[in-house]
Amino acid sequence: MPEAMRLILLGPPGAGKGTHAKLLSERYRIPHISTGDLLREIQNKDPLGLGQRVQRTMKEGKLVPDQIVTQLVAERIRRKDAARGFILDGFPRNVHQARELDTVLKYEEESIDLAVYFETSHRVVIERLAGRRVCSHCGANFHLVNIPPRKAEICDFCGGRLIQREDDREETVRKRLQVYKEETAGLVSYYEQLKKLRVISGDLTVSEGQKALIELLEREHVIHD
Ligand code: AMP
Repeated sequence: MPEAMRLILLGPPGAGKGTHAKLLSERYRIPHISTGDLLREIQNKDPLGLGQRVQRTMKEGKLVPDQIVTQLVAERIRRKDAARGFILDGFPRNVHQARELDTVLKYEEESIDLAVYFETSHRVVIERLAGRRVCSHCGANFHLVNIPPRKAEICDFCGGRLIQREDDREETVRKRLQVYKEETAGLVSYYEQLKKLRVISGDLTVSEGQKALIELLEREHVIHD
């Protein structure tokens, strides 16, 4: 069995990266690292200064400066719980971040195993983002149709109130998709050139997508239970 799994999930907002990362993290007991979540934490912990700048950028659907995000990730993947690997969700977001990540890993004599790209149709992305709800207390993700909470507007896990993410509103979604096209889509060829890219349909249901993902990881001998 391989010692570690260092995985990147790529795809537009709404492709299901967060949902699949969480399930893989529980199955293989390696951390799910979402830069969106790390940045939302900064906003809550430090509402002034950096937190305020981050909040403004996220609200506009733009990318937070590479240096801030790369440093956050570098610190996070050096933590002990990431010794057996990690699942990156939302990072890298452009080729510069991808190169920085390679440098950080190289220093530790490590490298990325695979980048899985969730190829997702525009229609599905819009439906998922419009219906997404998150817990205002623990951050768990739901969807009005695809992953409904047991009780309307209440989190199944902690009883917190479900809300729509501010950047899931229509106007910001448009900007995020534009940024994705301009900055993030180029990563597909970056990992293709490194022969690390694998593609899965992002239009599948959660259970179909998870099954396809596990089959892929096992076929590639990246990890086993
Ligand atoms: P997400 O939760 O991945 O959809 O990210 C939400 C927002 O956080 C994005 O629209 C960006 O403003 C910011 N963000 C998340 N990850 C990154 C990253 N790797 N680089 C820059 N900004 C990011």
